Amino acid sequence: MAEQLCGQCGKTPAIIEDLDVEPAQGWCLGCALALVKVGDPIVNYRELQGGAMYTHELAERGTTQTLRFR
Ligand SMILES: [Zn+2]
Repeated sequence: MAEQLCGQCGKTPAIIEDLDVEPAQGWCLGCALALVKVGDPIVNYRELQGGAMYTHELAERGTTQTLRFR
C-alpha cells in the first residue's frame, strides 16, 4: 500500500484522512494537532497508520466539547 503524504505540508506521512473534504485529504499528526490547538479540529476522519495517536490527543484535549469559538 502506498504511503499517503500530508496534504497540508506535503512532507510527512498522513496519519488520518479528513472526510469532510472531497477528495479526502491526508493530515500528518503535526498539522492535525495544529488545528486542534486553534480550536478547529478535524472530527470527521478515518484513521490511517498511526491515526490512533491523533484520536488519543483529541480525546485528551476534549476540544470538540469544551471550546466553541464560533
Ligand atoms: Zn503535515
